[in-house]
Amino acid sequence: MNIEYYHESGFDRFFNRMKDKTVTVIYDVNTKPYAEWIKEKLSCFAKEVLSVEYPDEELMPSEDKCEQAYETAKKSEYVLAVGSGTLNDMAKSVSTRLGIECGVLATAASMDGYCSKGAALMRGGLKVTDEVHTPSDVLIDLEIVRKAPHEMTAAGFGDIIGKYTCLTDWKMAHIVKGEPIHEEAFALMEKARTAVVDSFESLTRYEAKAVENLMNALIVAGTSMAICGNSRPASGSEHHQSHFLEMDFVRRGEKIPLHGVKVAIGTLVSITLYNYLKTQKIQFEGAEEVYKLAEELPSEETVRNMLQQLGCPVRFSQIGVRKETMEEMIEKAYTVRDRYTVLTLIHDLGLTEQVKPILMEKFY
Ligand SMILES: [Zn+2]
Repeated sequence: MNIEYYHESGFDRFFNRMKDKTVTVIYDVNTKPYAEWIKEKLSCFAKEVLSVEYPDEELMPSEDKCEQAYETAKKSEYVLAVGSGTLNDMAKSVSTRLGIECGVLATAASMDGYCSKGAALMRGGLKVTDEVHTPSDVLIDLEIVRKAPHEMTAAGFGDIIGKYTCLTDWKMAHIVKGEPIHEEAFALMEKARTAVVDSFESLTRYEAKAVENLMNALIVAGTSMAICGNSRPASGSEHHQSHFLEMDFVRRGEKIPLHGVKVAIGTLVSITLYNYLKTQKIQFEGAEEVYKLAEELPSEETVRNMLQQLGCPVRFSQIGVRKETMEEMIEKAYTVRDRYTVLTLIHDLGLTEQVKPILMEKFY
C-alpha cells in the first residue's frame, strides 16, 4: 500500500500511479469540490477520467448505488474515491469485483476503515461487511482533513480512544482464555493511539501535527489488522456495542450515527465494566491480573472530558438510540462477534443484570 501525506512530491507520485489509465472518480455532494479539483489534476495524467457523482448528502452504500459505480467503473482500470467511510468502502467493493485497483483521497479523519479489508455495505436492507481488497493508494492532504466537519474528527478520535478498551480486551482474553497476542500488531496500534492522546491539546485546535497523528492511527488500525490477520487489534467490546446499535438503526431504516461516535460511548461503557470488576472485587480466574488492566485504563472522567472537548456525545440517548435498544445491547452485544471481551466476561459471570442500571444511568 502506498500511503502519501500530500506535499508536492507525494502528489505527483499519487497521480503517476494512475498514469495512462482510465480512472473512475466517485464522490458525493459533500466531497464534490475536492473531486472537481482532483479530476482537473488527474486529466493531465490519466488516459480518461470518468465520474460517478452522487447527489446525496447522506450517501447509503446500497446495491443500486454500488451498481451505479460498477457500471461506470467497468469501463476503467482504476477507481478513485473522494471521501471517507462510505465512498471508500464502495470503491473497495466495486474494484474488488472488477479485479482492478482503487485508491482514495481521504477527506476526513473520521473512521479507521481506510485500509481495512472490510467494506460495510447495504444489501436487501441489511448491513453486511464484505471482504475486499485494500486501496492501493491513499492520499492524505492534511489541509483537507483539517477542514472536515468537526463531528467527523471527533468520531475519528472516538474510534482511536476505543483502542484502549480494545487492546485491554485482548490482554484480558489472553489472561482469561489464553488467546495469543500478536505482539507486533498490538504494539503498532498502541503506539499510534498513544501519539494521538499525547497530542490531544493540539487536536482541540485542529493543528496539523495532531490531525496527522489521528489520521496515522486510523491508517495503522488497518495495517495492524492486516499484520494480525483479523480485526482484534482494532475492534473489541466498544466496537461490538457499536455494531449492535448499528444493526438496530438499519432495521428501523433510521439515520446511522457516525461509527466513531458510537465506539466512543462504547469505550466509556467498557471502561466502567472493567472498573466494576475491580471495585467490586469480582472473583474469577485471572481476576487480580484483570484488575491491574483496569487500573491501567484512563479513567472514565478523563475520556469523557476529552470527548466533550471535541464535541463528541457521551450518552447513547444523545445519538438517537432507544432506551430498550441500549438495554438489549447490554444483554446481547457480546454475541455480535465470536470474540472474548469484557462484555463476554460480564455475561459469563452472570453480572449483566447488576451492571445494567449502572450503565443506563451513566450512559443513557
Ligand atoms: Zn472502528
